[in-house]
Amino acid sequence: MADLTPTPDRPGLHVSKPSPNTPATGSVVCHCGAKATATGDNQVRALVEGYTANHGPAHNRTGR
Ligand SMILES: [Zn+2]
Repeated sequence: MADLTPTPDRPGLHVSKPSPNTPATGSVVCHCGAKATATGDNQVRALVEGYTANHGPAHNRTGR
């Protein structure tokens, strides 16, 4: 699973939820240098929304 964790060399978004009874965990690394992790379904959802709104593909929309 460690291979799926984003790194500065391989930026991206990774969310893991091994089972319905386990809180989700997520990590994001952006090519701009931003990175964050979250644990818990709501926290991970907020992390993903923040990343997609401000990083990753959003950089292309703003031309940066
Ligand atoms: Zn970024």
